[in-house]
Amino acid sequence: MGDMRFGLDDDGVVVIIGSGAGGGTLANELCQRGIRCVLLEAGRQFTLADFEHDEFAMTRKFIWPDAPDNTSPPPLDRERPHVCKGVGGTTLHWSGLALRLEAHELAARRSYGAISGAALADWPIPADELALWYARAEEKMGVTGTGDRPLLPGNNNFKVLYNGGRQLGYRHISTGRLAINSRPRDGRPACIQMGFCLQGCRIGAKWSTLYTEIPRAEATGRLELRADCTALQIVHDNRHRVSGVLYADSEGRQQLQHARAVCVAANSVESARLLLNSASAAFPDGLANSSGQVGRNYTSHVHEFVMAEMPAPVHYYRGTVQAGLVEDERGHDPRRGFAGGYLLQAISFGLPFTALALLPGVWGPRLATLVENYTHLAGLVILGEDLPQSDNRVTLSSTRKDRFGLPLPGIHRRTHPNDTALMHHARERATALYESLGARRSYVAGSTGLTHNLGTNRMSRSPRDGVVNPWGQCHDIANLFISDGSQFPTSGAANPTLTIVALAMRQAGYIAGQMTARAI
Ligand SMILES: Cc1cc2nc3c(=O)[nH]c(=O)nc-3n(C[C@H](O)[C@H](O)[C@H](O)COP(=O)(O)OP(=O)(O)OC[C@H]3O[C@@H](n4cnc5c(N)ncnc54)[C@H](O)[C@@H]3O)c2cc1C
Ligand code: SF4
Repeated sequence: MGDMRFGLDDDGVVVIIGSGAGGGTLANELCQRGIRCVLLEAGRQFTLADFEHDEFAMTRKFIWPDAPDNTSPPPLDRERPHVCKGVGGTTLHWSGLALRLEAHELAARRSYGAISGAALADWPIPADELALWYARAEEKMGVTGTGDRPLLPGNNNFKVLYNGGRQLGYRHISTGRLAINSRPRDGRPACIQMGFCLQGCRIGAKWSTLYTEIPRAEATGRLELRADCTALQIVHDNRHRVSGVLYADSEGRQQLQHARAVCVAANSVESARLLLNSASAAFPDGLANSSGQVGRNYTSHVHEFVMAEMPAPVHYYRGTVQAGLVEDERGHDPRRGFAGGYLLQAISFGLPFTALALLPGVWGPRLATLVENYTHLAGLVILGEDLPQSDNRVTLSSTRKDRFGLPLPGIHRRTHPNDTALMHHARERATALYESLGARRSYVAGSTGLTHNLGTNRMSRSPRDGVVNPWGQCHDIANLFISDGSQFPTSGAANPTLTIVALAMRQAGYIAGQMTARAI
């Protein structure tokens, strides 16, 4: 940790809540621009030595522990956010696929038209402007297959995906654009294909804010990272501007850090919950919620795992977890019977996780067969666009509280018929891909939890339609910003982190400009 210390009464600092993809990046970008920041992180500080090749041990170590009050109907009632608590946030755990959103996804309302029950919206950022920030984010994260960086080599799981995909006529198949070094870069080594990326990369080849953005911000002498510090409430003055953050420190004592501006990057569920838990007499429905949109339009990609037992050994666990990408079904083609598209992404898990967590319904002789034939498994995850629905939302639980006495988030989600149609199509294609190579049997698994949490503080041009403007600045409160995936108006089909990082980089310049102009 760095040595910088700012006083609690220092109201010149920017307070950032959450040190993951959004918050960690924003902290570095602001510090590089000469702005002093306090970074509050609820979880502990990790080092590379903390990462173990043990799926269950690491789950205990870094997964956010509080289960939400999930009121979704079956089968969604079993799902819960699967995000990290620790310095680096979920970039400790992520698998590194770094994809851009495409033009049709950024204009979902225009591209797909009105769809009953869906609260589609267009992103209020021009696609060509976002493209510039994507390029900068790819450079920062060292994304393979962009700039002059080579793609990673293909492991066996990739080869199965590739050959099966070709049998189906797919043409856009690669090892994927990954924020994983394919050669030494940025003071970090190249990937050695040891697997277990989800348990933290022990050599730091996979990009994480833990060992890139945060130490760089600390090196400027302008960042104070406070680990084990949980933001409880954002407070405001009588001019309706936020003035600080009340938080519980590592000993559980409540502290109030004053601030010139506050940026919330706690991952979508916790970000919306924090705004709702910060209600006051002046903001009775929660901070920045005059539109009533805080918590609404919660999306998490339509996703499902397909595992297949192949005729010969695959050893799918060897090499990067996220080992390949089919992009042919990504576009919007209404002839398939649904709006938006999906990706097929090669993925693997260790034996205990495959057998017990991923396929909990598989039991008895079927489980024994799966375990016996683990070496022959190939696997992929389907990732599709999840249409926003106004009533898919995060609220505050009326019955359950956390250890600080604050209401836990309540999560309510229903599947849209479009999601069902998309999944039906994708499942059929994924199964056919493996069958084309003689798969002996296949397993379809619903979910390992909500890994991509988006929406809940959506971006909009008009204050009526959303929580933040195109810069992530709250419509209601000029010095309050949202800096994570909760500002996404729609999910698109791509994994979200590259977009979160690009938006954080873009937002940093805007905040710096607003501070220089003394607008905040
Ligand atoms: C298994 C898995 C694999 C994934 N793979 C990919 C992938 O291949 N590609 C991709 O694009 N995305 C992937 N993701 C998603 C990616 O990790 C997230 O999109 C990204 O990390 C979100 O960034 P964030 O800044 O919003 O939140 P996070 O990175 O989750 O960081 C939020 C931080 O806020 C902290 N926090 C929360 N509440 C408080 C509070 N009240 N006070 C202080 N701190 C708080 C948390 O402890 C956490 O550290 C994956 C996710 C998972 C779980
Ligand atoms: S496969 Fe590569 S990126 Fe993944 S944990 Fe191993 S070295 Fe790190």
